[in-house]
Amino acid sequence: MQTKINYQLMLDRELESIKSSGRVPRLLLHSCCAPCSSYTLEYLSEYFEITVFYYNPNICPAEEFHRRAAEQQRLISLLPVKHPVSLIVADYDPREFYDAVKGLEDIPEGGERCFACYRLRLEKAAALAAEQGYEYFTTTLSISPHKNAQKLNEIASELSGIYKVKALPADLKKRGGYKRSIELSHTYGLYRQDYCGCIFSQREAARRYKIRPLDKTEYPLLDDFLYEAIFIPEGVEVPPRDIILRPELQVYVEDFGTRRGDYALAAEIQGKVVGAVWVRIMEDYGHIDDDTPSFAISLYPEYRGRGIGTALMKAMLMLLRREGYPCASLAVQKANYAVRMYRKVGFETVSENEEEYIMLCRLG
Ligand code: SF4
Repeated sequence: MQTKINYQLMLDRELESIKSSGRVPRLLLHSCCAPCSSYTLEYLSEYFEITVFYYNPNICPAEEFHRRAAEQQRLISLLPVKHPVSLIVADYDPREFYDAVKGLEDIPEGGERCFACYRLRLEKAAALAAEQGYEYFTTTLSISPHKNAQKLNEIASELSGIYKVKALPADLKKRGGYKRSIELSHTYGLYRQDYCGCIFSQREAARRYKIRPLDKTEYPLLDDFLYEAIFIPEGVEVPPRDIILRPELQVYVEDFGTRRGDYALAAEIQGKVVGAVWVRIMEDYGHIDDDTPSFAISLYPEYRGRGIGTALMKAMLMLLRREGYPCASLAVQKANYAVRMYRKVGFETVSENEEEYIMLCRLG
């Protein structure tokens, strides 16, 4: 059996020798995101002048890449550090990632696909460090409990030999590094993604959601989901948030949980409620009669298109069937892409006006 190397101990020795030399070497730090770099910067900026290298062609979609880059920039501008920290954001070209992992797409997270992804990003960092005369390079990736620190350090050490620049050994999750990164993320209100980065990890994360009853203490979230449920046709300006205070929208959420027929389910990913479906018997646009619950459903935008909405709808229909309701209704704008999904789970159009369908699902 191969013995594991303690890379934190190796880092301790390296930092000790840097400290006793009185020098402040330049370090090129590959970073995957602001949360992972938070503790890393707090820790290593004591010893180095750091340039954060945000090179992540693995991230999908492009909006996610730019969102993480913006958070990286914001963190650097806020975090108190001993020695200067600067940032290089590399161009986004996802083809570099897809070429690097060709043939490995279906391998689960943590396997060979990830090793190829580590190598791609570390190699770019090593090459740039060599070209621009940095003394060291390393990555934030080892802070994650999901990343293989042995493999990361092995790859970095191999690249160090090729590019003739020192690889700073690291296993940043040790000494509470991961926990501290979560604390710092809270302190600075950092965006923390729920998937590693690539489309394959995004799909894996989407499969990990769970559907459960929305707890009473979470009912205030329905205001958020009500706002997200408002259909905004293309080219139409996004309404202000206080639109939900209008009486015709308040019927969906006001005093929720106090009436017969109030039921709500949540979709949760890694402890975060990312979507909700709720029903109540109310005088809304989809009102059929005083015994038929009407549906409302929404997900935060980044969780749409993953099948979570369909699962929420099916779970609520099952709940209503169990509770003995003969049917359920909803109103939907004709241009809303959700119409197809409603049909798929059993709703049919029973009436319509210029803009909307009124749909009914028979539960018997
Ligand atoms: S899961 Fe993460 S490390 Fe693995 S290939 Fe995808 S982005 Fe890279």
